[in-house]
Amino acid sequence: MDNTQITVTSPLLPELDELDAYLQDIWSRKWITNNGHYHKELEAALCEYLKVPYISLFTNGTLPLITALQALRITGEVITTPFSFVATTHSIWWNGIKPVFVDIDPSNCGINPDCIEAAITPRTTAIMPVHCYGKPCDTKRIQEIADKYGLKVIYDAAHAFGVEVDGRGILNEGDMSTLSFHATKVYNTIEGGALVMHDEKTKQRIDYLKNFGFAGETTVVAPGINGKMDEVRSAVGLINLKHVDDAIEARHKVAITYREGLRDIPGITYFEDMPGVRHNYSYFPIFVDAEQYGMTRDELYEKLKSRNIYGRRYFYPLISEFSTYRGLESATRENLPVAHRIAEQVICLPMHHELGAEDVERVIDAIRR
Ligand SMILES: *Cc1c(COP(=O)(O)O)cnc(C)c1O
Repeated sequence: MDNTQITVTSPLLPELDELDAYLQDIWSRKWITNNGHYHKELEAALCEYLKVPYISLFTNGTLPLITALQALRITGEVITTPFSFVATTHSIWWNGIKPVFVDIDPSNCGINPDCIEAAITPRTTAIMPVHCYGKPCDTKRIQEIADKYGLKVIYDAAHAFGVEVDGRGILNEGDMSTLSFHATKVYNTIEGGALVMHDEKTKQRIDYLKNFGFAGETTVVAPGINGKMDEVRSAVGLINLKHVDDAIEARHKVAITYREGLRDIPGITYFEDMPGVRHNYSYFPIFVDAEQYGMTRDELYEKLKSRNIYGRRYFYPLISEFSTYRGLESATRENLPVAHRIAEQVICLPMHHELGAEDVERVIDAIRR
């Protein structure tokens, strides 16, 4: 039996020949960072691909979160989800803001709009939801609540590259949205990220903030940070952008095969596509009901590992369980029952553009008994 390792993810990587041509050009220009030629080209190309008006590239996906909170002058408390990668809450904490966790909606694993209003206090200034697994949040309801209470909305859209709802890029929602181009994501620049905004003035301000606040050779207009992306990674981004649609299509095929193979297994559930949504298949989470399945999530996780199949328990533990955040009033289990249940049931199965049909069958086989 084939027992080669099946990894949870595999990076989209440029052909070396193609990368070499870009490197030759970058070396001859000798302009290797600070809003260079390929940096500008990548920003323009991403605006078109993502159907957004303005974007600022960053050196990773965490700095745009931190910078968005700075740019919108968010203070006090920010309402967010515990069911995400730690960077979401860390970015709030790094700004000296108190995160307030609310429970999630099991239909998309995003923040549950029904829980937001009860968490609003006079100190609340913003909501930071996550399009978890690239599944769109209920952006309409979230915006209605934000408008009613005068709150800003910053979407952590690290999972949502290329996701569209009724033909509209999901990154147009809220006041700003952030992306991560880390190697493990659908689209990568090795390390990298971006912030999406609606107007030129905001883009200008973000561009200052990501370059120490410099607005000119001798003018510093704000206490900025160094969040700049360089030319080499911009080139990687331009090449990968040519192949990302094929990668998403390959992921789609994997998702279809998983769904067919896992249908009718008692105690195993997963998401179907949502009507009108262009999904990116960034993750394939399954949810294990131990009673019905006859095995706990962790037992299945270990069984897969014993067969050299590596899933990930995204997101377990919840962010609210980490020592920094555990003491917050909103971090209790009673406040977050759905998030706790899902964190104890989820496994993200291997999902990437290079998974072959036989790999997918091996994973399905290991889950069927
Ligand atoms: C990956 C990720 C980030 C952070 O991105 P980096 O590029 O690794 O800094 C933030 N939020 C979520 C939800 C992520 O998955």
